[in-house]
Amino acid sequence: MELDKMDENDWKYHGEGNKSLVVSHLSRVLRLLKYPAEDSENPPQTVEQAFRQIQNIVDFSSNVMSSLLGEKFIHSGEVVKLPLEFVRQLSIKVQHQRPAWRCEKVMDIYSGCALCLPNLTSPALHQPTHTPPLCIEIKPKCGFLPSSKHVSKDIKTKVCRFCMHQHYKVAGGKWKRRSLYCPLDLFSGNRQRMHFAIRHLIEEPQNNLKIFKGGQCIYSSKEGSDDAMDLTSLLHHLRPYFQHGNIRINSHMTSKAVLNDFIQVLVNALLSGGGGGDGGVVTDRQGEGRSFCEASVFNKERIRHGSQGLPSDSVLFRTLQTQMLDTLDIEGLYPLFRRVEQHLQDFPKERTRLQMDGPYNEAFLEKLQKCPTEDDGSVEYAVAKVRLRAGTSRQVLCMMIEVFQISADCLLDSEDFLSSRPPAFSYSVSILDLDPKPFDSIPRQLRLDQKIVSCYLRTGGALP
Ligand code: ATP
Ligand code: MG
Ligand code: ZN
Ligand code: MG
Repeated sequence: MELDKMDENDWKYHGEGNKSLVVSHLSRVLRLLKYPAEDSENPPQTVEQAFRQIQNIVDFSSNVMSSLLGEKFIHSGEVVKLPLEFVRQLSIKVQHQRPAWRCEKVMDIYSGCALCLPNLTSPALHQPTHTPPLCIEIKPKCGFLPSSKHVSKDIKTKVCRFCMHQHYKVAGGKWKRRSLYCPLDLFSGNRQRMHFAIRHLIEEPQNNLKIFKGGQCIYSSKEGSDDAMDLTSLLHHLRPYFQHGNIRINSHMTSKAVLNDFIQVLVNALLSGGGGGDGGVVTDRQGEGRSFCEASVFNKERIRHGSQGLPSDSVLFRTLQTQMLDTLDIEGLYPLFRRVEQHLQDFPKERTRLQMDGPYNEAFLEKLQKCPTEDDGSVEYAVAKVRLRAGTSRQVLCMMIEVFQISADCLLDSEDFLSSRPPAFSYSVSILDLDPKPFDSIPRQLRLDQKIVSCYLRTGGALP
């Protein structure tokens, strides 16, 4: 990428979240910061601050998260300085493609700073196959029930956070229908439960699922909208990948069968080592008993085979392990947050020594790792715990699963054999969206937790 020859016509709108807007061009994406629209006249931070913010994201991802989650899943990218004229033209160009409900924030056109990453949905990254690669983006959310002694409401140890949050969101009108996806089913390692979880993600994707084909988003959902997702059109896209063998005999392959095969491929990808190889190292046998959410509509009696557990090199295992570093729950963390806050008020200069605003280097990681298991009353303990929670992005982390159909002719050239053989796929799994969360988000997280729990207790979990 030649930074002095950037042309906005090359780049297209790719998507956005709450914090950043993403544009793509072939094998790359640029992730630009967003600001509240009120600030659009006056940039809320200087160019140096914007650069530092993005550098912090890169450092956090490459030094902290990649050591927790496994390097093979992480692409940290690099900070780039773009010509301001390019950024301004780009912002005008993408504006009309942005969903209206995201427009309360505007793209940063002042700093020229952006994060450059490999485009994980792009076919250009790989050898051409007959069919463009599929890329499935899943925001799995927290996959375990808290067992912290600080949890004040019993319900939190029975019903998972996602399922309770669904009731809250439907009650508040954010979504029309509740999703029957439960993260504990996805993280269970039991193929039936995983299948069930993914099927419900597809039926009600909200912002937990997007599907790309050849770099183009073909399935997602719109916040607050009532549109029934077009499952028919998704199936139309998927059919060519699964219709194997003698096309004439299989031409009536039912939609249900296509969907089942697709989900099967995702289950395999999530249980695989993610970067080639078949994984298979089993270490999490107790996992399933530990975590059944009472709100999940999966019928336990349907389980025909016990769980094999999550293979220790799978993306789900690594994600769950990282999430579980948060042993205290938000209720146990809040007093630690107050301890740090008080300390910083008394000794403002300590902010730097405690690396409250980065840099997220090896010394920072070491502090997290050296954190004692029991509270020794120190501010260091409090900082490490709070930063682990804020940083491990347990609520937001997002997985990208790329699925490539292995070209039939590179497998075998015998027609007979081919026609009886199911299509083969290879996968590559990555983890995205690993930004360090601001330290001061803790009080907000606590308030939201309280609201969600009391809403659930009030409605008795009795929404449709
Ligand atoms: P959130 O509100 O979830 O925190 P965010 O503002 O931090 O989101 P991202 O999730 O990083 O933004 O990016 C927004 C979207 O852009 C993603 O959901 C994904 O679809 C797409 N995207 C981000 N990074 C990449 C990448 N490297 N390759 C392909 N697509 C990407
Ligand atoms: Mg995101
Ligand atoms: Zn649940
Ligand atoms: Mg994010």
